[in-house]
Amino acid sequence: TGAIQVEVKRPINFLIFLNPHSGKGNAHALFCGNVQRMLQEAEIQHTLIITERQNHARELVREADLSQWDALVIMSGDGLLFEVVNGLMERKDWKEAIQTPLGVLPGGSGNALAASIHHYSGLQAVSSEELLISCGFILCKGLVSRLDLTSVYMASSQRLFSFLSLAWGFVADVDIESEKYRHVGAARFTVGTLVRLASLRVYRGKLAYLPIENPMSQPSVVDSTASFSHIFPQSNSDTCSPSNDLLGHTLQNSSNSNNTPKSKESIPSPLSVLGPTDLLLNPLNQPVPGHWTVVQDEDFVLVVAMYQSHLAEDMLAAPSSRLDDGIIHLIYVKAGISRRSLLRLFLAMEKGGHLNTNCPHAVYVKVKALRLEPYSPKGIITVDGELVEYGPVQAQIHGSLARLIAG
Ligand code: ADP
Ligand code: MG
Repeated sequence: TGAIQVEVKRPINFLIFLNPHSGKGNAHALFCGNVQRMLQEAEIQHTLIITERQNHARELVREADLSQWDALVIMSGDGLLFEVVNGLMERKDWKEAIQTPLGVLPGGSGNALAASIHHYSGLQAVSSEELLISCGFILCKGLVSRLDLTSVYMASSQRLFSFLSLAWGFVADVDIESEKYRHVGAARFTVGTLVRLASLRVYRGKLAYLPIENPMSQPSVVDSTASFSHIFPQSNSDTCSPSNDLLGHTLQNSSNSNNTPKSKESIPSPLSVLGPTDLLLNPLNQPVPGHWTVVQDEDFVLVVAMYQSHLAEDMLAAPSSRLDDGIIHLIYVKAGISRRSLLRLFLAMEKGGHLNTNCPHAVYVKVKALRLEPYSPKGIITVDGELVEYGPVQAQIHGSLARLIAG
């Protein structure tokens, strides 16, 4: 899979958070069934915490004595892992804390990271309880890989850490609107997509990004007539981004920003207090750096930035993505697409075929950072499937910042 195994000792002592309301509401029953037996057979000790409310896990992780555990595991959907990741990054000792191996047992309705891990292991796609068994087996094997995290800035200057996706438009609306269909499990996204297709609309805003290619050799404006534009890298991503080198360098590093290439001189001050510094980003109230690509189109149907392969159990939206490729896979669909073509895209996405449909409205580009400025005063933006503050938002990927038990 390209992921690096960095742990020799198998994690055998887990702290497991379980959201009893996730998915169809049967996560606890599923845990007490097959999962517990698998852990027992693999001689894995665990402490189970059933969360009582939203952000319960996040608060516990922020305060926990992490030396007691080999791994923090969630049994829920992506939302509970989002809490754990952000709880770790909100700690003063975030740099060590985020090294704690994470694990996922899909018990929610949105199990995109679980589906991605299963996909990376090369196995044929499965869903619901079969996916749970597969991920249980992966946890028992205990191979620890590196995991990219993306830092996401909101207009209020709040910063979040994201392991999966940043979405606006169609996909974000479906994500939130479909929560009322949670009782159908992962099928909620299919139902939500069909409902949204009936009331398809346009989302206006400005999108800009830093491609993974050598930014200076790129055109500053995307040709809006290009068909399903794959804007492929010309060089290895490692050669053009400083983000890997900067991991863990916080305040000292920011005073050093004169050492960064000339094109980044305009970066005035560190955009962080805790956590890694986002050296690729300008403050939101200033224009994006001059070498970024500004998308000409301002009418969109959807914009999704993702860093793993799946958006949901049956949505292989970025087939080439890997756990720690250090790449934001940016997909956007321009307004003007017919309902029929959009439906065709979503149907093809189940097997990852949407990138070969030659749809002139859809664009796929690999980036290191992006900024999105919606024009409408109200709307929905999601991070890892969770509703976040609506408004201008920007993000930068930090390669291999976290660790994850994967196949
Ligand atoms: P699903 O995939 O079914 O949506 P998630 O893991 O994403 O499952 O959880 C859904 C939401 O519930 C998330 O916002 C999470 O933070 C929140 N949450 C976690 N524990 C609880 C709880 N005990 N009660 C209510 N909400 C919770
Ligand atoms: Mg969720």
